[in-house]
Amino acid sequence: MKLLVVGSVAFDAIETPFGKTDKILGGAATYIGITSSILGVKSGIVSVVGGDFPQEHLDMFTNREVNIEGIEIVKEGKTFFWSGRYHNDLNTRDTLATEVNVLENFDPKIPDSMQDAEILLLGNLHPGVQLSVLEKMNKRPKLVILDTMNFWMDCAWDILMDMIAKTDVITINDEEARQLSGEYSLVKAAKKIHTMGPEFVIIKKGEHGALLFHDGKVFAIPALPLEDVFDPTGAGDTFAGGFAAYLAKKGKIDFDTMKSALIVGSAMASFTVEKFGTQRIEEVNESDMFSRLRQFKELTTFDIELQ
Ligand code: AMP
Repeated sequence: MKLLVVGSVAFDAIETPFGKTDKILGGAATYIGITSSILGVKSGIVSVVGGDFPQEHLDMFTNREVNIEGIEIVKEGKTFFWSGRYHNDLNTRDTLATEVNVLENFDPKIPDSMQDAEILLLGNLHPGVQLSVLEKMNKRPKLVILDTMNFWMDCAWDILMDMIAKTDVITINDEEARQLSGEYSLVKAAKKIHTMGPEFVIIKKGEHGALLFHDGKVFAIPALPLEDVFDPTGAGDTFAGGFAAYLAKKGKIDFDTMKSALIVGSAMASFTVEKFGTQRIEEVNESDMFSRLRQFKELTTFDIELQ
């Protein structure tokens, strides 16, 4: 199945307790595109960058067979820039700067070559932009996956509700699920979110893994316990990318396939956090992925006698 990704392609400047970076490559669609290519899935990105965006980054996508026909270059504009500082727990961060730049007037254009995509992954952007992408598809994709965040709940609630109503799979973190549903219990939160539209609800719990809810069933996965977490930026995007790419690779979108997709997402995210920005995930190949998937299997498999 073909995977269409809509999201930011950006510059990030990151500070963690271990150091800081200058402007480096970032953006949700960047992490997703790289992750899909590791799985050998052909994806296409719809995004916008400025004239300041280096050709070498665009070449990186092309070399990975990521279709970038849908990345518009606004020559006279500047690329979206985000800067954040992580606290010592590495779970919480402060946004130091968000320079929206060319993303401000982003009017996504879907190239003809991606119109037949069967899986659409809408990275975290204004829900109005996400909705417009769906409206511009000639045919509704088989699966619409939505990533969003509390910021849009605070400032664009009504349109976010319209977008969620048209979503099959939503991925949000635990705090966002609570805010969206008004429920503290994540089980109750997921039930309520189902009534808003999505048949599948994924709740990410950072270093504690993730939950998948569907049709009265729940599946839980841990995050791989890592000795060193260096920079969590992009972990959520990598997770979503691994999840979507696995479904695209298998060509199946049922609950059981999604269970494995969740593991793949989590395994890929465990690479991203090991170095700054995209540095680590850019080094990963298919065999690295398989060895980490084996680690996941060992971590979660056990025998038990029930009588
Ligand atoms: P994550 O760590 O998964 O939340 O994603 C981090 C990525 O999201 C960074 O690479 C940023 O460039 C990008 N990002 C941060 N804020 C926004 C925003 N408001 N819109 C789009 N992308 C953003």
